[in-house]
Amino acid sequence: MPGYELFGAEERKEVNDVLETGIIMRYGFDGPRKGHWKAKELEAAICETFGSKYAQLTSSGTTALSTAMATLGIGYGDEIIMPSFTFVASFEAVLSVGAVPVLVDIDESLTLNPEAVRKAITPKTKCVMPVHMCGSMAWIDELKQICDEHKLILLEDACQSIGATYKGKSVGTIGHAGTFSFDFVKTITCGEGGVIMTNSEDLYTKCDGYTDHGHDHLGVDRGADLHPFIGYNYRISELHAAVGLAQIRKVGSFLETQKKNYKLLRSYLETVPEITYRVIPDPAGDSCGQLSWFLPTEDIARAVVAEMKAQGILPGNFYWFDNNWHYVRKWDHLKQVKSLQSLSPLQTAALQKLQTQDFSASDAIISRCISTSISLVWTEEQIKEKGEKMVAAIQKVLKAQQVSA
Ligand SMILES: *Cc1c(COP(=O)(O)O)cnc(C)c1O
Repeated sequence: MPGYELFGAEERKEVNDVLETGIIMRYGFDGPRKGHWKAKELEAAICETFGSKYAQLTSSGTTALSTAMATLGIGYGDEIIMPSFTFVASFEAVLSVGAVPVLVDIDESLTLNPEAVRKAITPKTKCVMPVHMCGSMAWIDELKQICDEHKLILLEDACQSIGATYKGKSVGTIGHAGTFSFDFVKTITCGEGGVIMTNSEDLYTKCDGYTDHGHDHLGVDRGADLHPFIGYNYRISELHAAVGLAQIRKVGSFLETQKKNYKLLRSYLETVPEITYRVIPDPAGDSCGQLSWFLPTEDIARAVVAEMKAQGILPGNFYWFDNNWHYVRKWDHLKQVKSLQSLSPLQTAALQKLQTQDFSASDAIISRCISTSISLVWTEEQIKEKGEKMVAAIQKVLKAQQVSA
């Protein structure tokens, strides 16, 4: 999954271009920058590679989400329906714009269950935010249908599924807006960075200003820019964009390698009939950044995790049910409203409600799920060794289970 595994001469060359001029800022300094506009070039490459009309880089995936929400007009008191399984950044962004996160169950796709979304709609709902988790995609057609019926905004958090597609379209380019993260562990990295993609010129213009203190970027220089609205500094630097520019040129080969390695590793796991796999709404569009699989019960999943740990083969395998970052079960700081900034009464009430909300449908899935991160630098020999070791550990647990049953 992570582009940092293949960091090399191309990244150094792009970064050196910036270091040689010393212009690390993405705007202005037209003369001294000697023609280097890494952020602009990366935005153009994102549009070209993923088929978006517009792209606005940001300092992170989190600020990309905040920017998308603010510029889409989502704010105080608006409810955003989002999944119980995501990275904490998704709800952080919701809270940052004053909106109210409404968490609903996922299904075996590991993404929003469209029926759960329908049931959660209230007069305050403004947006549905699917999260394309673990390299694959949400039920876009079903969610789009719901958004169309109820006149809701569809905002795709595609931060961790760069390169996944749905019916031929890149995830993140299908809704009103979508975001990628280029943090250090994502499919392509800038070190830190993010992007908002949209086909709306109006939204893009707002993102462009919002991420740079509200500058309209129409002045003869920065000092002459006007400020049609209030913004913040969510800019990316030229150094970060330079890294991303080298990475995006390699994304095709990253995806090819991911798919090949995923397929080979999966062929080993498939020798165990008790293992089932995540449902993928459009299998051809899986970016294959992770292989997510299910064991028959939580007890077996826990025993397999323990066995893999004992054998030293756990690294790279994620048991989300016990993970502090990705699943509602462990988000005590959220449920207990441990916020340093004062939240609105609506936000506070919604978060407190999470303490008693029934997530048993999500629990039943996540408690049996393990995701294996697919490396770009594995050799076939290493995948064989890894696959065989994983299978042996799983078989050992299943056998012990049978004996005790
Ligand atoms: C990584 C990630 C983000 C945020 O990205 P950062 O660049 O780390 O701020 C948001 N949502 C999801 C699902 C992510 O995986």
